[in-house]
Amino acid sequence: MSVASPIVCRRAAWGVMIAASAVVVSGAGACRAPGPPRTAAATIMRTQQTLGEDVLLVPLGTGKGATSVYQGESSSSFAIMVGKRCRLLVDVGLGVVKQCLRMCGGLPGVVYVSHNHSDHAGELPVMLIVELAAGRKMTVVSAPEVTTRLREHRLHELYSTGKTADDIARWIVAPPGVLTRVDDDFEVVTFRGRHSEISFGMVLYADGAPILGFSSDSGNDDARYDQLAVAPVLLLDARAVSSDEHASFEEVARLRLRIGDGKRLLVTGYGTAAEGPVSTDLFQPVRIGEPVILLKAPRANAVAPR
Ligand SMILES: [Zn+2]
Ligand SMILES: [Zn+2]
Repeated sequence: MSVASPIVCRRAAWGVMIAASAVVVSGAGACRAPGPPRTAAATIMRTQQTLGEDVLLVPLGTGKGATSVYQGESSSSFAIMVGKRCRLLVDVGLGVVKQCLRMCGGLPGVVYVSHNHSDHAGELPVMLIVELAAGRKMTVVSAPEVTTRLREHRLHELYSTGKTADDIARWIVAPPGVLTRVDDDFEVVTFRGRHSEISFGMVLYADGAPILGFSSDSGNDDARYDQLAVAPVLLLDARAVSSDEHASFEEVARLRLRIGDGKRLLVTGYGTAAEGPVSTDLFQPVRIGEPVILLKAPRANAVAPR
């Protein structure tokens, strides 16, 4: 089964070209010509005004591979909300859908899937087919190799219905290093992590401003972290013990010392709540029920800086 053509960005983002010079904007013909240079602060300010509401990262789970199956806590996942609207689900492993319904009041129309492990994609088929039956065809965003795996393997259980992958969902292929628009306000640039299964983290952009670097499952990788660090907040996979495919808390602490104080470092994918690290000045675990503000909307009564 072939992968659908990528949907490329319709608008180029000026801030991206400043913040991440290695980033290529896909579909040159479909993108706006580069405008005058802007500062990163100007890009953030413009985005704050465009969206008009706070952009929140809502942690839905922190589980690793066996967490949902054996301990019943949700797999690692988060939702991006703009004000009260859930706009993007990031990973949909075991236990995630009911968490999203409970914590965000519903499912968004778009899901980013980092890789085809069951703690990141296990609930994708059921979610897509149930939403389709309810009249809502969801959009799945993933890197090219991940898209192929999801369509051929993860969705295989649905093909007895006679429906194809394109009947079941819309697919946006997000090639690594390429700014790919996922909806009217958000874009992603994917980056491959160090993992046994092909896995891609990403930088999330809100209307041109990088707001989050997300490693998804990955071993410690300084070069990759530097690419994610165009954003002010990094959400990294880490657990108590280091391995080739998962970083450790100690390695994240070392990253803090290497990159200095300018970024907020958060960790997820560590397992149950009890397996999480203690919050320190170096980095903090995300916790279910504790949203993180990625972008603050300007307040109507705020005093303008002189
Ligand atoms: Zn995982
Ligand atoms: Zn994995």
